[in-house]
Amino acid sequence: MTVWVLGDQLTDRSGPVAGSDSALMIEATAFGRRLPYHPHKLTLVVAAMRSFRDRLRADGRTVHYYQCETFADGLAAHAAAHPDDHLRAMTPPTHGARDRMAAMADEAGLTIDFEPDPRFLCAPAAFDEWAGDRDEYRHEAFYRWQRDRTGILIDDGEPVGGEYNYDAQNRETPPADWSPPAVPTVDTGVHTDAAAEWAAEIGEDWADPATFQWPTTREGALDVLDAFVSDRLEEFGPYQDAMRSDSWAMAHSLLSPALNLGLLGPREVIDRVVAAEDAPLASVEGFVRQVLGWREFLRHVYRREMPALAAANQLDATLDLPPAYWTGETRLACLADVVDGVRERGYAHHIERLMVLSNIATLLGVRPQALNRWFHAAFVDAFHWVTTPNVIGMGTFGTDQLSTKPYVTSANYIDEMSDYCSGCAYDRSATLGADACPLNTLYWDFLDRHEDRLRANHRMGLVYSHLDDRDDREEIRTRADRLRSDALDGTI
Ligand code: FAD
Repeated sequence: MTVWVLGDQLTDRSGPVAGSDSALMIEATAFGRRLPYHPHKLTLVVAAMRSFRDRLRADGRTVHYYQCETFADGLAAHAAAHPDDHLRAMTPPTHGARDRMAAMADEAGLTIDFEPDPRFLCAPAAFDEWAGDRDEYRHEAFYRWQRDRTGILIDDGEPVGGEYNYDAQNRETPPADWSPPAVPTVDTGVHTDAAAEWAAEIGEDWADPATFQWPTTREGALDVLDAFVSDRLEEFGPYQDAMRSDSWAMAHSLLSPALNLGLLGPREVIDRVVAAEDAPLASVEGFVRQVLGWREFLRHVYRREMPALAAANQLDATLDLPPAYWTGETRLACLADVVDGVRERGYAHHIERLMVLSNIATLLGVRPQALNRWFHAAFVDAFHWVTTPNVIGMGTFGTDQLSTKPYVTSANYIDEMSDYCSGCAYDRSATLGADACPLNTLYWDFLDRHEDRLRANHRMGLVYSHLDDRDDREEIRTRADRLRSDALDGTI
């Protein structure tokens, strides 16, 4: 029996590899060409696979490692050498992947069976029991249930500190003289240079291939976790929603690539954070909420709601993605800075993803699928199961299955939570006029265009009363149309 290990299933601490001494790994070049992937994403996955292979071999296990064009080629080569082999695999979270793997194995003449995915704390059956037959999901209810059933941050049946959620304490902005905590220096592993060369050969050149800085081994990932707990956790909570042009990482953990590849497990990461002495509860709970709550919640909503979720577009958005998302060339200081960061390192933190990248695309009326494709290609931590619910659900309100209202905002929120607006070519306080911030025009236009759907939403009542007070709706529509075509022309 041989365990077929995919590039994001790199754990030997649990799952099928833990109980086997033989593994099959396939580097499939065609897979890396399916989208214009960020070279760091390709480097990360391939270097991490090679390191995992070395780790298993050093542990005395056999690893059949194939570098070929497609998975089918790799399986055919393996079947030719080991015709009677039986494969076992971890069930992949990507929709349809299990069936595709089974069909490919069958085509190669090999048998295969699947084990549960140990990289999440909530098993499918448990989530399904909690969710029943609902098709609308609210995170807060799931999160409380997860806390109660795991006992994480629960004391004598009650949430530690008396509340389940300290979100209200996660929205501060740092003072002007704040020095962001140092970004950890990462040991990127021995395979990074060769993997980067391979990525440069097959990949696109829209992003900087030279600045790779993610861990590709478990040891490197543990170092990033250590650095988070000792240097960054304290400020993670209060500044979770803040953005600063001089700090791409703020106090975020930078753990998503390692978690999504399996180099770290959610339980060990949560346990380390919960055990951190002296860390403020709002930081600890804020982190637990992301990993125990959001990450698991979205993975299961995706599992249950695919394939319709990926295609959802309830606002009938039709615009293509503006070129600024690839080039970073725009006069909007917030968008330019965040896209520059993505080009440089394949990363932006949560509030940049939600309130800058998704917000601007949603206000413009970009097709959720076009934005999802971009996120999937551009981010080092992007995998279909996590990008899709985040982009289609939270980011663009392509469906209301995950949230009751769209996360959209004018320049007001960006100005409050960041220092972008003070250095921007646009005027944050104007809605009309050549220099008015496009977000203001587009925000009112968004409410106007989607009035039929959104006005009745009780959480939108106040903003619609402000729209009712405006007597410039026609001018707003005209300017919004022009901004949309400017965005497509790359001149916004
Ligand atoms: P921290 O802020 O330190 O959070 C800690 C951990 O919590 C993260 O590492 C991650 O594992 C988990 N987490 C937090 N929020 C989410 C969430 N909404 N969904 C899933 N996990 C979460 N996350 C990805 O891992 N891959 C993606 O492709 C991805 N795409 C996103 C697209 C959009 C439009 C939005 C709004 C969010 C997306 N996220 C994605 C979620 C989140 O933004 C990232 O997990 C986070 O920014 C990663 O940085 P970090 O490790 O420093 O996170």
